[in-house]
Parts: sequence; structure tokens; C-alpha cells
Amino acid sequence: MLTYELVVIGGGPAGLAAAIEAKKNGVEDILVIERDRELGGILQQCIHSGFGVHEFNEELTGPEYAERFINSILANKIDYKLDTMVLEITQDRMVKLLSPLDGVMTIKAGAVVLAMGCRERTRGALAIPGYRPAGVFTAGTAQRFINLEGYMVGKKAVILGSGDIGLIMARRLSLEGAQVEAVVEAMPFSSGLTRNIVQCLDDYGIPLMLEHTVVEILGKERVEGVIVAEVDENKRPICGTERLYECDTLLLSVGLIPENELSKKSKIEIDTLTSGPTVSESMETSVAGIFACGNVVHVHDIVDFVSQESKRAGKSAAKYIKKELIQKKDGIKTSPGRGVRYIIPHRICVDNLEGELELFLRVDNVYKLSKLVVKCDGKVVKEVSKRHLAPGEMEKLNIPLNLLSGKKYSSITVEVESEVDS
Ligand SMILES: Cc1cc2nc3c(=O)[nH]c(=O)nc-3n(C[C@H](O)[C@H](O)[C@H](O)COP(=O)(O)OP(=O)(O)OC[C@H]3O[C@@H](n4cnc5c(N)ncnc54)[C@H](O)[C@@H]3O)c2cc1C
Repeated sequence: MLTYELVVIGGGPAGLAAAIEAKKNGVEDILVIERDRELGGILQQCIHSGFGVHEFNEELTGPEYAERFINSILANKIDYKLDTMVLEITQDRMVKLLSPLDGVMTIKAGAVVLAMGCRERTRGALAIPGYRPAGVFTAGTAQRFINLEGYMVGKKAVILGSGDIGLIMARRLSLEGAQVEAVVEAMPFSSGLTRNIVQCLDDYGIPLMLEHTVVEILGKERVEGVIVAEVDENKRPICGTERLYECDTLLLSVGLIPENELSKKSKIEIDTLTSGPTVSESMETSVAGIFACGNVVHVHDIVDFVSQESKRAGKSAAKYIKKELIQKKDGIKTSPGRGVRYIIPHRICVDNLEGELELFLRVDNVYKLSKLVVKCDGKVVKEVSKRHLAPGEMEKLNIPLNLLSGKKYSSITVEVESEVDS
């Protein structure tokens, strides 16, 4: 049977960064497995700029950012398989895969990094009344059609959901000559980055309709229009507020879900808040020797943070392979406090930390003039003032090691203290 010291599942920015870092840390024998026809993951279809500001101090397009990592994979002579889908992994790290070249094949891995990214929520999850006409796309599918395959998806569009992909596609459709009637969002705030609202909607005069939703899709063969209505505080459409928007296309940008069928099948513990695996400070899942990073753990807004997190996963996998990773059952558990939706990592072994602890979190609402308060066993150890917090913007907190080492804490909580809610 074929064996590798490390198998990385997914050749997006997370998988590539993890593989390169593992190599730099002494792992010789690495295989990256990617189901698509090329490496780079979702970045290959993100032809806009805005990537790499933290990682390279430059503004790159998605394919340019991916290219730097792909070049490093080639320079480091790391093996990869394309058009290859991983079907199953077991707790003892047997990886079953399928490809036109190899057929069904099983590989034994010393360690595994899960880097499968995430997928978009579809129309099925929304149950919008209407027939099933052509012209309803998830925003990412439309992006792939336009940017990679060379097909235009429509001439007049409404976009449901204000996630970053929807915002970016509003601009993309406008640049390609389509008319974008509106971006419709049920929440009282956008779930996308502020910079995307300004650069993709405001700059193109596209209205963002908060607290509205699409209640009906019209048309039998092709979309002919959508009915948009205002929603109440329980997200229920308000009768009498319905308005017809004539259009031939409806794009859905209504959330991303970590791609976790493989993780669930192998009984890796899943956080119900993120829908990704629970992870340690070393990005190790609940199963020893299986690590996870990138959008498969939690949905990131900025790829630079994906790369940083994934380097940690790659380095930790190398330590595991060299038997240098400290495995302790007890340790510090993190939990989201008031105003915080989730925190990554979920558990911390202080002995494995180098320099500082990085906490990633998202808040549950928009807060102005507020503080993020970090408490260890109920005692405040750090406070960070924030002018603006929003669910669409991931927050990163660095906790210096000297605040944690030798203290034997059992819990870390982060909460929002705010005078003004909006
Ligand atoms: C439209 C859009 C715009 C964005 N704009 C920006 C931006 O301006 N700036 C920025 O910094 N970030 C941006 N991002 C975010 C950034 O692209 C993501 O955070 C990043 O791509 C996530 O990396 P990943 O490797 O975790 O996932 P992905 O890039 O999704 O890669 C996962 C890979 O795993 C593969 N895979 C999945 N399952 C299997 C399997 N079973 N077997 C084999 N392979 C598998 C997939 O084919 C895929 O290639 C944007 C994202 C999108 C979608």
C-alpha cells in the first residue's frame, strides 16, 4: 500500500500553505490531493484584487496569490494529485480516494491535514416558492461561469444575501454589462466586509435593501422576476410590502458551510456553531494526528488569515510526525461569552504555544464603541477597544504567552462590552 508521512486533503490556499510549512519543518514525504483540475482552490475564480495585503504586503488577485503558493509547492517538490476526490478517511489515517487515473485507491498517512474549504448554501435550503426556472445560481457558481468558463449568466439580476461573494458578484455583473437591480438582505446588517459594500455596491449605485427578502421567484423556463418584501424582527415577510423586480437572474449569497462530510464520517468532533471540527491551538482535531485549517474549520473573510492558520497546522503536523507535539487531555477550554458567536481554537495546551496565542472570533451583532474582553477563569487578562464590530468581519486577538504560562487556567472566555448597539 502507498504510504505518505503527510496527506493534505484540498489544494486551496489552506492545503498549500500547510503542505509547504510541513516541508519547511522537516517532513519529506507529502501528498496534496485536489478534486479540481488545478491547484489554488476558490482563489482561481476570484480575479478581483484584495488578496495578500497581510501576507505579502501587496494587493494581489486571487490567481496571483495562489500562484505564489503553487510555485512554492513545485520548488519544494511536493507531490500532488489533481482530479482526485477523497472519499473517506479513518481515525487511523487510511485515506480512500478516487480518480480517473488511479481508480479507487487507499493511502496510509502518518498525519492528515483537512483543508477542504466550504460550499455555498443553495436554493434548497431557502425553500423560496416558485418553479425551478433557469437563472437561479449561487453567487460562487456564477463567478466560476463568468471568470473561468467564459459564460455570462444573465442581463438583469437581483442578488439575495449580502455575503462577500454576492457583493463581489454585484460589481462583476455590472462590469460585464448586466444591470443589478438590488442586493436584498434579511438581516439589519450586511454579512460582508464594509470595504466590499463601499467598493462593490456604493461605487456602482446598487441599492442594499436591509431587512428585505425574496418571497417568490417568477417564471417557468427562465426567471422573469422576483417578489421582494420587507421582513419583521422574526424575519417573516410583512404583508403588503411586496414589490416586483423584473429580472432574468437571481444570485444567492446566503452563507457558506464548511465541507465536513469526511470529518463527520470519521467521527471527528464538530462545533455546531461553526459547522467545522473543534481544534486545538495546534489546529489538531479531536482525533490525534488529523489536523484542519482554513474554511473547513470556520469561514474566513481574508485569505491571508487562512494562510497563517494553515502554516500553524502544517508545522503542528510536522511536530506530530516527529513525535514532538505535546498531547494533553486537560488544558484550557475556550468559550464565547456575551456578544461573541464562536472562538477558534476550542482548546489550548499552553506547552505547545510559541510566543503568543491567536484567538479568532466573530461577534453576533453590530457593536459600536465597544471592547473585546478576554477573561481567564473569570479574571480579565486583556481588553481591546473597538470602534466597530460586525458579524461579517472576523476578529483576531493575540494573547501573549506570559499571560498564560504557569497559571493553570482551565477556561478562556471572550465577551463584548458595548455602550451602543445598532
Ligand atoms: C467570491 C470570493 C471572494 C473572496 N474575496 C477575497 C478577498 O478579496 N480577499 C481575501 O483575502 N479573501 C477573499 N476570499 C476568501 C478566500 O478566497 C478564502 O478564504 C480561501 O480561498 C479559503 O481557502 P481554503 O483553502 O480553506 O478553501 P478553498 O479555496 O475552497 O479550497 C479547498 C479545496 O479543497 C478541495 N476539496 C474539497 N473537498 C475535497 C475532497 N473530498 N477531495 C479532494 N479535494 C477536495 C476543493 O476542490 C478546493 O480546491 C474570497 C472568497 C470568495 C469565495
